[in-house]
Amino acid sequence: MNIENCKIKIINDVKIERGNRYRINIDMGRMHDFTDLKMPIEVVSGVKEGPTLFVCSTIHGDEINGIEIVRRLLDYVEVDKICGTLIAIPIVNIFGFNDHSRYLPDRRDLNRCFPGIKNGSLASQLAYKFMQEIVLKSDYGIDIHSGSFHRSNYPQVRTNIDDEKNFELAKVFNAPAIINSNLRDGSLRSAGTQANIPIILYEAGEILRFDENAIETGLNGTLNVMEKIGMIDKAPKNDAQKIFVALSSSWLRASQSGVFTSYIKLGEMVQKGQIIGSISNPFGDNKIEIRANEDGMVIGLTMMPLVNKGDALLHIASQKNQTSNEGFLVNDNINLTLD
Ligand SMILES: [Zn+2]
Repeated sequence: MNIENCKIKIINDVKIERGNRYRINIDMGRMHDFTDLKMPIEVVSGVKEGPTLFVCSTIHGDEINGIEIVRRLLDYVEVDKICGTLIAIPIVNIFGFNDHSRYLPDRRDLNRCFPGIKNGSLASQLAYKFMQEIVLKSDYGIDIHSGSFHRSNYPQVRTNIDDEKNFELAKVFNAPAIINSNLRDGSLRSAGTQANIPIILYEAGEILRFDENAIETGLNGTLNVMEKIGMIDKAPKNDAQKIFVALSSSWLRASQSGVFTSYIKLGEMVQKGQIIGSISNPFGDNKIEIRANEDGMVIGLTMMPLVNKGDALLHIASQKNQTSNEGFLVNDNINLTLD
C-alpha cells in the first residue's frame, strides 16, 4: 500500500517494525522540580501492511473516558490480526491529567494550540511534538473528549459534514448523533484538516467519570472505523442504528437561580415549547417551568442541580441551520462497507 511507504515509521527515535508492539515514552521536557516528563504511547504494528491510525484521549486533562476506551482497544487488537499500525495515546495532556484539570499549568487550552510551535508556550510545545511524532505520521485520527465541568454529553461525533471523507468516517463510527461543527482555530481537528489527515472527534460522558455507555460506544466506533479503513476484517458490534445528524446546536440556560429538576434524559428528542424541567427554591416555591427552545435531541445535560441564572442546563442539537429548516436522518440502512 502506497500510504505505508510515504510515512516514516520512527517514533521518538524508535524504529517501528512490522509485527511488534512498542511502549514508547515520548520526551515532553522537564518539570520545574527537574522531573522528566514523558507521554506514554503504545504502537501496535500489524504483521500486514495497512494504514496508520492514531487514537488519542485526554487532550483536556480531566476528560478521561477515552483512557478506558484506549485501554480496551489495546486489549482487543493483536499484531497478527490488524493490518497497518495503531498508535494509541491514552493521555495527551499529561500536565492537566495529573492536576485533574482541563488546562496546562500555564492555563492554556491545548486544543487551541495546534499545530504548535517548537519553542512556543508549554502548550504549544506539547502540540508541536504531538503533531510531529504522531499526527503527521498517521493517515487517520480519532480524538476522544468528554463534556465540560458538571455536564454530560450524549455519545456524539463532531465533524464538518461538508467534508466528505470526514463525514463518511463519522457515519461509520455509528454513534447515535453527529453534530456538524466548524473547525476551531488551534484545534487538533483543524491542524489535521490542514495536513490532509481526517480526524474525527468523539464526545461522550462527563469529566473525571467513567461512563459505560460512552466507553462502549467509543470502543465500537473506533473498531468500526478500523474496519472501514481496512485495519481489521470485521468489527464485533456494528449493528446499524439511526444516527441523528444535527446542523446546529444551542444551550438552554437557566432563567433564574435555584434548584433545577430535569424531566428529560440525555438522548431524548424534545419539541420546542416542551416542558423539560423546573427551577424552584429549596422549599419548592417560586417554581418556574423550563421549556425547550428548539426541536431536537438532548446531547448535553447539566449534572449539577444547583444553578445560577444564566447557567447552561441542556444542549439541544437541531436539524435546522441558520438559513434553512433542512435536516435529515442517515443510516436507516447503514452499510459499513461504504467506499
Ligand atoms: Zn475536550
